[in-house]
Amino acid sequence: MIAILKHGTTQAQTEHLIAWLRNMDLDVHMSQGQEVTILGLVGDTSRVDMELLGSLDIVDSVKRVSEPFKQANRKFHPCDTVVEAGGARIGGGHFGVIAGPCSVESEEQIIEVATAVKAAGATILRGGAFKPRTSPYAFQGMKDKGIELLMKAKKATGLPVITEIMNIRALDLFEDVDIIQVGARNMQNYDLLQELGKTNKPIMLKRGLANTLQELLMSAEYIMSEGNENVILCERGIRSFETYTRNTLDLSAVPVLHELTHLPVVVDPSHGTGKAKLVPPMAAAAVAAGADGIMIEVHNNPSCALCDGAQSLTPAQFSDLSLTIQKIREAVR
Ligand code: PEP
Ligand code: MN
Repeated sequence: MIAILKHGTTQAQTEHLIAWLRNMDLDVHMSQGQEVTILGLVGDTSRVDMELLGSLDIVDSVKRVSEPFKQANRKFHPCDTVVEAGGARIGGGHFGVIAGPCSVESEEQIIEVATAVKAAGATILRGGAFKPRTSPYAFQGMKDKGIELLMKAKKATGLPVITEIMNIRALDLFEDVDIIQVGARNMQNYDLLQELGKTNKPIMLKRGLANTLQELLMSAEYIMSEGNENVILCERGIRSFETYTRNTLDLSAVPVLHELTHLPVVVDPSHGTGKAKLVPPMAAAAVAAGADGIMIEVHNNPSCALCDGAQSLTPAQFSDLSLTIQKIREAVR
């Protein structure tokens, strides 16, 4: 349920109303825009007498929110959320360019790629340390050593870093990580989401391989309901009957999510297509569709990459893509 307050309501009146609502065992979330203040009520709102609430002097209107996602809902929070991470911003007109290798492989590799993507305009460095691989015999990532190397690359370039967490037991290792990624395979690992909700770290939540947008938003809700509102959503392709591409990149997710939620939406065309040659056109399409950022896998030597070489751009290809993206952003602004 949301209560829209009248223009001119004082802070004291608002606080008084919030206290009254909290007394009914409701969680109250305030969204203060320039024009309107909205109180979002979460909990058993059946106890709220909508007519009484709506008749108060300071209340303009009261509406039920039918969707099961509340805090992620744009009705609760009409303005775009801007997530800040280590100096980078994503959302509300701030565009995030996340680039780097699928996996951290060595100090030379991550420093070389980090330096190259920064020079080409990346705002955030990616690099997997804990890798969720389909085969237990495939390279599983450098784990804690990988995070150490990412930190060296962060120090060398000044870029904030994003890396994936697979198990909450590893959380201590993520202290200096700027954005924690929850991968597609863990999108519905509710224990993990709730634990991450207790931190104040920005979380990038990737859409599951076979999950609906509503399920993605419900997973975001698991993080937000524990108090962490710094959530970025990522469309990375879903399973379909098509086998030419690794996944089917659902770009309609971008305008749909922008309608349903205030959270920023990033698109990952690397996992979305699985083929390097398809990454630039789909990244361009994502920007044209209104994405708040893109995530691109870049490797200094894709043919020798330990993971996802086929979908990785070279630094030179990424640099060309970065220019294209700038032009498209200017055109659609
Ligand atoms: C990744 O970004 O490193 C990754 C494993 O992606 P996804 O979870 O989307 O498969
Ligand atoms: Mn990858």
